Order: sequence, then structure tokens, then C-alpha cells
Amino acid sequence: MDLGIRGRKAIVCAGSKGLGKGCAMALAREGVEVTIVARGREALEATAAEIRAATGSTVHVVVADITKPEGRAAALAACPAPDILVNNAGGPPTGDFREFTRDMWIAAIDANMLAPIEMIKATVDGMIARGFGRIVNITSSAVKAPIDILGLSNGARSGLTGFVAGIARKTVVHNVTINNILPGLYETETMLGRVEAMARTNGVTFDDARAARLKTIPAGRFGKPEEFGALCAFVCSEHASYLTGQNFLTDGGAYPGTY
Ligand code: NAP
Repeated sequence: MDLGIRGRKAIVCAGSKGLGKGCAMALAREGVEVTIVARGREALEATAAEIRAATGSTVHVVVADITKPEGRAAALAACPAPDILVNNAGGPPTGDFREFTRDMWIAAIDANMLAPIEMIKATVDGMIARGFGRIVNITSSAVKAPIDILGLSNGARSGLTGFVAGIARKTVVHNVTINNILPGLYETETMLGRVEAMARTNGVTFDDARAARLKTIPAGRFGKPEEFGALCAFVCSEHASYLTGQNFLTDGGAYPGTY
């Protein structure tokens, strides 16, 4: 299927690794010019080279912290009129809510709620004026099925989800959609780091901890960032103009509910 977005411009936040990289690659395969943002130059340059070689698309890199105003300004200076915006950043730490300080809460809200809201604020009116826009926020399956030790993530991402639910109904008339994609367990550096931490906490091997996580997934495997990217590219496609304000859960069947 031709997704109908060849020649469009995208900003992919936190795009040098994992899910963000999967989205950038999938969009570039559709002929989208992508600007990827991350803090570490080395991984960013390596990913840009890999995407250019695989797709032939133009890839720009911005070394910046997307959770900071100056980082967002740098991303927007590199791509001032994006047609597609993928909001993403690192997730907050896990822990017992009794130990979460105010500073930890502010950092989580900055990264996983306010940074995407600021990026939406900076880009949505241009999209409306041009009559096309696709905004995807990478959130988490924990928004739908909260996990106790992910309190910072549950809280901050639910705030973003509530905000998006309101404005996504205002922009769609202009062919500007805003949706969230909720990953379950995807095989990325962050997720494998969490399995490693789990192994240490429980005094088991990495392989045992990995097997325990896999048991919770009916698909019997972790997701692949390229699968996540393919879903993101469809949500960003010309064909998806009737989808807005939705929360797309992609978790290999782990969520056990009907709705
Ligand atoms: P990952 O593979 O570790 O990649 C994280 C990416 O984000 C890297 O490119 C990293 O580059 C970039 N990044 C982190 N903080 C940033 C910042 N402040 N500014 C700009 N770039 C930043 O992680 P992932 O698994 O794809 O996770 C992406 C998001 O999905 C996270 O919020 C995570 O909590 C959430 N999530 C993931 C899963 C999963 O199973 N993988 C499940 C649920 C939710 P630099 O470090 O160089 O900046």
C-alpha cells in the first residue's frame, strides 16, 4: 500500500534508537524527509546513515534534549514546518511511589507530558494552515493497564492522554490528527535494561527474567521496533485522516480485557 506521504517532512523525537528509530525508518521508507532528535551524537549519526542507506530518503540529525526548551527550539529550527510529528522521550524511572520526590515528578511530567504538549503547540497551527498534519505520541501500555512500579509513567502519560483526547477533536476537521500509540514489551535497549534490573532485584539470571517477561505475552515474543514503526507510519498516512484521539495498544495480546 502506498501510504501517500512521499515528500512530507517529519520530526521524530528520541529517534536514534528503539521505537523512535523504528518510526523514523518506516516513515523514511515511505519517502518522508525525517529529522531525528536525540542527545547522543554517535547513535544519532549511525542511525541517520543506516536510514539513508536503507531508504534513500533525506535524514537530518539534531543533537538535543527534547525535554528542554532549547532542545525543542533546535528541533524546530531544523524542521520548521513538519507535516508529521512523532513525540517520544526516555521513560521515567521505576520505583515505590513513596520514594518519588517532587523533583522526580516534575522531571517525568516535563519529559512525558509537557514536552509533547509544547511540540504540539509549536507545530499544530502550521499543520492546520497547510491542511495536513499527523501527530503521534509514543506513550505506554501502562496508560491502559497501569503497573504499580511505573507510577511516574502512569501519571505523566495519562496527563498527556487526557490533553490529547480534548484537542484531537478540534484539529481533525483540518486533516490534522493526533493519536497515541501504546507499546507493550518491545525489544529495545531500555526494555532489556529493565529485564536486567529485574534479574538483579530477584536474584535470577537475565535469561530467567527474560523468560518470565515473555510468559506474560500471548504472542510469545517481544515486539520489534520495525513493527511499531509500521503502525506509526500507517497512522501518519494519507489514509488515516479519519483516526483521531485514539490510543492504539500494541502489546502482543498482553492486555487481557475486551475493550
Ligand atoms: P530506547 O531504545 O532506549 O531509545 C530511547 C531513545 O530516546 C534513544 O534514541 C535516546 O537517545 C532518546 N532519548 C531519551 N531521552 C531523550 C531526551 N531527553 N531527548 C531526546 N532524546 C532522548 O527506548 P525505547 O524502548 O524505544 O523507549 C521509547 C519510549 O517508549 C520511552 O518513553 C519508554 O519508556 C516507552 N516505552 C517503551 C516500551 C518498550 O517495551 N520498549 C514499553 C512501554 C513504553 P539519547 O539517549 O542519545 O538521547
